[in-house]
Amino acid sequence: MAPRSRRRRHKKPPSSVVSTIVTPPADVTSVPLTLSKPGPSIDALGFFSLENNVPGLSQLILQKLNMKSYEEYKLVVDGGTPVSGFGFRCPQEMFQKMEDTFRFCAHCRVLPSGLPDTKVLRHCKRCRNVYYCGPECQRSDWPAHRKVCRELHLVAVDRLMEWLLVTGDFVLPSGPWPCPADVQDWDTWFSMRRLQLDTTLDAVIGSHAMTTLWANVGRPRPDPDVLQGSLKRLLTDALSRPLTLGLGLRTLRIDTGKAGGSTVHVVGASHVETFLTRPGDYDELGYMFPGHTGLRVVMVGVDVATDFLQSTSASTLKPGTIQLSGHRGLYHDFWEEKVETGQIAHPDLVVAFHPGFHASADLMEAWLPTLLLLRDYEIPTLITVYSHQELAASLQILVDLDVHIIACGANPFTSRKPEQVYSNPNKQPVYCSAYYIMFLGSTCQLDKKELEEEVDGGVLNN
Ligand SMILES: [Zn+2]
Ligand SMILES: [Zn+2]
Repeated sequence: MAPRSRRRRHKKPPSSVVSTIVTPPADVTSVPLTLSKPGPSIDALGFFSLENNVPGLSQLILQKLNMKSYEEYKLVVDGGTPVSGFGFRCPQEMFQKMEDTFRFCAHCRVLPSGLPDTKVLRHCKRCRNVYYCGPECQRSDWPAHRKVCRELHLVAVDRLMEWLLVTGDFVLPSGPWPCPADVQDWDTWFSMRRLQLDTTLDAVIGSHAMTTLWANVGRPRPDPDVLQGSLKRLLTDALSRPLTLGLGLRTLRIDTGKAGGSTVHVVGASHVETFLTRPGDYDELGYMFPGHTGLRVVMVGVDVATDFLQSTSASTLKPGTIQLSGHRGLYHDFWEEKVETGQIAHPDLVVAFHPGFHASADLMEAWLPTLLLLRDYEIPTLITVYSHQELAASLQILVDLDVHIIACGANPFTSRKPEQVYSNPNKQPVYCSAYYIMFLGSTCQLDKKELEEEVDGGVLNN
């Protein structure tokens, strides 16, 4: 979740809208009273937490997107309403309104509505990402902003370029991996795809869609190497989730060649995992395991997008095929209703992207039954977090629950696209699934000192 990921199809609202709404739960401190679904909704928590930093910001976003409430936003997203449904007259207006949602003074937090008529917010010339109400605020903010200005420049380019994924003008390169064992991280993935990738990126950079994009966004088109860098970051962002599932299957030595196929449950799935996700996005996961006998990926969570809800059968998959499906609800309920009754296959691996249970008591309360279930049924599990700090906090919680940690460390398939903490732009940008933790069953042997060594040392051995 998160400032958060999401993808490429025609007739969908821009994914940067989604990124905007879904901030990392690290900033969550209050639960809105309007939640109607069971348990905290990660998407809604992220949306409403914006208010804590910049009062009025969530209303500004809705206003710019021509919506009245978070519920309406959710409905529009669920219904897959075409871009025209947002009421934008042209792409130029859409990009303008989207940029307007970033307009507040990064130092004093004032919104345009709080300024006298004669004053306007002006952006930082270097990053074109943060805004200031005047030179005093900009000067006072510089000691903090200078640390992130360069990275925020990338964010500002990426959030425009993402549009090409949404419209389908940037199709991710894909195809069988000649030598899967050689591909252990992004560098090896990029060198495997080099020739195909050069052609793809050159074509996108020279495309009519790229020209149209930069003609409409109200800022100069960057140099080709900047555009290429952005496309590569977007690519890692889109493929990070499927390949992280692959990392889990590999590291935990799960047999993807067993009769009947393998099943991965993605727990606590939100819009980020299911909105704009299409089956082809997981093709690379299949190529990681040539000869697999079928992979079922089931997204379970209270925020699973409506158009992702498809029936999942426990019947045998054809070898080499990948089936994506979704179920809306909490995992321990899903387990009782679907897994225990045999309607849906028992998981070979469970994955949670950014569960955020370290961040608030509400999230921990929602996650506890699931964590205990996974521990007690000894399900191989992988979770991801945004930062080293979150890694340490999450490990501590898991150790306190006597969970047996198998491995943890930096994710070789992390997203390389920086995510701005939207309502607090001078906070260090984070990366989706930057770190992972894998666990299996229970143990009581780890103490705190060992834990600290493990966080610093990476992979665990016991
Ligand atoms: Zn100001
Ligand atoms: Zn700047």
